[in-house]
Amino acid sequence: MAYSSDYFKGLNYLLNEQQDKAIDVFVQMLEVDSETVETHLALGNLFRRRGEGDRAIRIHQNLIARPTLSKDQRAQALLELGQDYLRAGLLGRAESLFLELIERGLYRLEALEKLLDIYQQEKEWAKAIGAAKRIEHVGGPRMGALIAQFYCEQAGAAREKGDRKSALKFLKLATVVDRNSVRASLMKAEIEQLMGRHKLAIKTLTQIEKQDADFTPEAVPLLLRSYSALGQSAKGERYLRQLLEKHGGMTSLLAVVELVREEQGDAPAAELVIRYLRSRPSVRGLDKLIELQLQSGEGELRENLLILKELVDRLLQEKAPYRCRNCGFESKSLCWHCPGCKQWSSIRPVQGVSGE
Ligand SMILES: [Zn+2]
Repeated sequence: MAYSSDYFKGLNYLLNEQQDKAIDVFVQMLEVDSETVETHLALGNLFRRRGEGDRAIRIHQNLIARPTLSKDQRAQALLELGQDYLRAGLLGRAESLFLELIERGLYRLEALEKLLDIYQQEKEWAKAIGAAKRIEHVGGPRMGALIAQFYCEQAGAAREKGDRKSALKFLKLATVVDRNSVRASLMKAEIEQLMGRHKLAIKTLTQIEKQDADFTPEAVPLLLRSYSALGQSAKGERYLRQLLEKHGGMTSLLAVVELVREEQGDAPAAELVIRYLRSRPSVRGLDKLIELQLQSGEGELRENLLILKELVDRLLQEKAPYRCRNCGFESKSLCWHCPGCKQWSSIRPVQGVSGE
């Protein structure tokens, strides 16, 4: 490849940080030399990565305006320009470029993946579902778990409008594409409870241990509510004990402990905690044990227990019960879309001494 003197002039401007002049030279060169298209693509890409979106857009727009570009070069430039717009937050412009590529059957998978990104940013869930299904269709990765999250988002919006019927319909679709969607089960059970269908709610909630046992703590309070509404607390306790035996978990233990406490008093409840703590040390378990001992403690013992309780409470307050397994983001409540890394389903209940 022969380098023209303009090329070196441009390079020189670039090296001397006179980037606007450099771009002008490169753009002029493009007028006469379409072989430098690859160089321009690389340059535009570089500017975008450096966060210089305006420069990247200028380069790519100029490329696209060239009549001598081959079909593939033009498509490549469109894809790059779409990404410039996306990066600059010009979502509408980016969307129309990616749609154009898809329509022409060029870079379909890449364009669909970018569209999916746009629709998520815009919370356009129906369109996001469409894009995700097409990604699978053109041979991209499996999207079931992601599509289920989008259906759950739609269900949440319907529920907020008081439209429980539509919400349930979306949740059903979520389970069709991902039968292990814990979020769909939890949301469905909540709606069933609001409708007074407690037997159904229990059936839905007992699926969760098979879907993803780490999430059973989320089901426990809902299960207790439904068993209690049906006047079947004993049955509820039996199920929780089974859960505890199979999967462990502080939330299950503490729920059982409360039920034992109501029926038999503090001493047997404390015994149950101690037995469990011997095999699995847990800050939450210790907290409950102190609380139970406090009831009967007197004088100096009581004073000491109060100091201990304050310490343990502070420890617990500092620990977030949920953490993203992708980026480590810590959260006080369960979110399905990580605010740190924007991944779905990556935030989970924390296991171990300070968690479950
Ligand atoms: Zn994250």
